Amino acid sequence: MQKRHELEKRESRYCAFCDHTGIIRNPYYEQASGDAMSPCPRCVLNRCSCGGEDPYYIFDGGIKECPCRETRMKIDQAKEIYARSGIDKKYRWRFINEYESRNKLGEAAKSAAYDIIRRFPDVDKGLYLWGNPGTGKTLLSTIILTELITRHAVEGRYIKISRGFFQRIRSTFNVESVTYGMGNAIEKEFAEADILVVDDFGTQRDSPWEQETLYNLVDARYEAEKFTIFTSNINPLKALTEIAGGRILSRIKEMCRIMEITGPDYRDRL
Ligand SMILES: [Zn+2]
Ligand SMILES: [Zn+2]
Repeated sequence: MQKRHELEKRESRYCAFCDHTGIIRNPYYEQASGDAMSPCPRCVLNRCSCGGEDPYYIFDGGIKECPCRETRMKIDQAKEIYARSGIDKKYRWRFINEYESRNKLGEAAKSAAYDIIRRFPDVDKGLYLWGNPGTGKTLLSTIILTELITRHAVEGRYIKISRGFFQRIRSTFNVESVTYGMGNAIEKEFAEADILVVDDFGTQRDSPWEQETLYNLVDARYEAEKFTIFTSNINPLKALTEIAGGRILSRIKEMCRIMEITGPDYRDRL
């Protein structure tokens, strides 16, 4: 209820042009040499008189916060979070309006994504997207992450299980490694992020140690009711029953809406 109230408060302050966020995102900023994110000209910049000078204060018979300050601070914070989110370069700065669904399954997944983006943080379930390779699961999940970080400046992380996740944790056991002894800190970072995208879930033959590490991560997020998106090439209801004795599957079923995306290969369009 509290979350819904915050959402309504937020919506009344900003306009429809910026989708009630106060922030305009510019996916073409690299080519057009503008800013990736800027305050909305219609409901924030029109009230700004600090000229965008950090720390966004004005003099008006005394030192006061400029009306743009909250939005500009949020943008600064969102940019920092986005830079450390772990999203691959080719998936960055992509938004929901450019996701093309190819069939009914894709359309349903896109509509679930829209719903999450509109309602966050008032969302009670994450997503488990599964289907054959190349159907845009990674793209759709990183789009949701991008939308939520750039709208709300919430802490979000992307991890690809098949590449790097276990190596990163394993290297913390190696005394030669710069991350030696930081295993708990790394696991905590993923367990506690407001949003986590776990890409390529259940694709490798997990060792008992890997299964336990994954279970601990999923369980920690389940307990803390953290929003999580999984993508996988496998149907969880068939393939996850064996992993960690079915404990991961039972958590995922409670945490996520399980949706299939199957279809032609999407990757050549990126
Ligand atoms: Zn606006
Ligand atoms: Zn200002």
